[in-house]
Amino acid sequence: MKDSLLDQGQRRRLVERLREKGIRDERVLQAFMEVPRHYFVPGFLHAHAYGEDALPIACGQTISQPFTVAMQMQLLELQPKQKILEIGTGSGFQAALLKSMGAYVYTIERQADLYHEAEQRFQQLKLPIPIRHGDGYAGWPELAPFDRILLTCGAAEPPQKLLAQLKTGGIMVAPIGTGEQTMTRIVRNAENDFQSETFGSCRFVPMLEKETGFNKK
Ligand code: SAH
Repeated sequence: MKDSLLDQGQRRRLVERLREKGIRDERVLQAFMEVPRHYFVPGFLHAHAYGEDALPIACGQTISQPFTVAMQMQLLELQPKQKILEIGTGSGFQAALLKSMGAYVYTIERQADLYHEAEQRFQQLKLPIPIRHGDGYAGWPELAPFDRILLTCGAAEPPQKLLAQLKTGGIMVAPIGTGEQTMTRIVRNAENDFQSETFGSCRFVPMLEKETGFNKK
């Protein structure tokens, strides 16, 4: 995969726009500079990879708007070497951003075809990101607890099994609601003490129950 000077220039301008729109975490901006978003969108959308919009990927899913992704990343307050679980791998772009921030990233995707594509993409890009094909509602109990949990699909309510897999002091960032969601940050202060804050409305594809089978291989 090629990363041309044109791509790099467009990426720099995207980062400037994110900064103007209020993204302040330099490490998040740096990650956007380092990870070529055009590797993660379908080839025919290459020219749009550094625009403002959400873009379609396979299986009727979307790679979210850069600003929304950056906002989520900023709310996570991710530190290097922290262990983070992402629900909704999709293209793998957000997982790659988290990886470039120095975290140990684990990601779950329910759609078999997307899972398969993302796994191959991580291999091609030499990104050591363990990926599981499964239902994110169950989390990844064998690897719990996590410092951070990120939902990139909208859940009606904070999934209980995921909250249980959060470390004390850990943070979950998730779009919560049906139809339109509210960006929500939940901090686990103690075993049974969860504190929730909201950060405006957003629109993600819904978090659905159970994984799908493979259509092709
Ligand atoms: N983070 C992605 C965007 C993903 S879009 C990226 O950077 O490209 C949301 C994804 O969540 C979709 O791929 C969808 O299939 C997946 N998803 C929905 N419900 C899920 C569930 N219960 N478990 C795991 N993944 C789920």
